[in-house]
Amino acid sequence: MSSGGPLAAHLQFFRELGVNGVSSDEVWRRPGASADSGMNAKAELKRLRGEIGDCTRCKLHAGRTNLVFGEGNPKADLMFVGEAPGRDEDIKGEPFVGRAGKLLTKIIEAIGLDRNDVYIANVIKCRPPQNRNPEPDEVETCEPFLFSQIDAIQPRVIVALGAFAVRTLLRDDKTPISKLRGRQYSYRGTTLIPTFHPAYLLRSPDKKRYVWEDMRQVRAILRGE
Ligand code: URA
Repeated sequence: MSSGGPLAAHLQFFRELGVNGVSSDEVWRRPGASADSGMNAKAELKRLRGEIGDCTRCKLHAGRTNLVFGEGNPKADLMFVGEAPGRDEDIKGEPFVGRAGKLLTKIIEAIGLDRNDVYIANVIKCRPPQNRNPEPDEVETCEPFLFSQIDAIQPRVIVALGAFAVRTLLRDDKTPISKLRGRQYSYRGTTLIPTFHPAYLLRSPDKKRYVWEDMRQVRAILRGE
């Protein structure tokens, strides 16, 4: 006869499922989160950066100055995903530092956050020649690193910037971004919000109001509203 009775058997069953306890602590409400998950995320991002190394996995390596891995807060609740580095990013090795990047910084600040609060990365880590669209083999080679970044950070919200990032993440190569935006999508344990790319907003400032609508949704989710 077992010594602990039904409760002990129940707890043993949960332990076998990998559940080691319950808590009302906020960090337990996020899948995979733990009190030291920020530390783990930092270490995991460092490990990933090492794994990418001086990458020659696709043809884009030949034309790059710097690989643009991504940057920001490893514990970020909010992550932005763009397409690929442009000229300024290639020179500095940092994402979104050109004109579009300055607008992205303003968008982040418009919802009361600082650029250092969020994490910013691209689907593709090396600049395509003349900023052409990334090609399918380049996406296939590079996107696993973005997925690993997302899994390490586990943001509550991902904002996908522009048609290329939105379609790549949602695996939808037909629907225009104007139809995909305005909705929330469940994505790798987080909520994905598509919106227009800041570079597009520089050309079409009348579209800024849609991005503001999308960012209000982001703010509401982050505030738990
Ligand atoms: N556009 C992008 O999609 N990413 C950058 O980092 C810069 C411009």
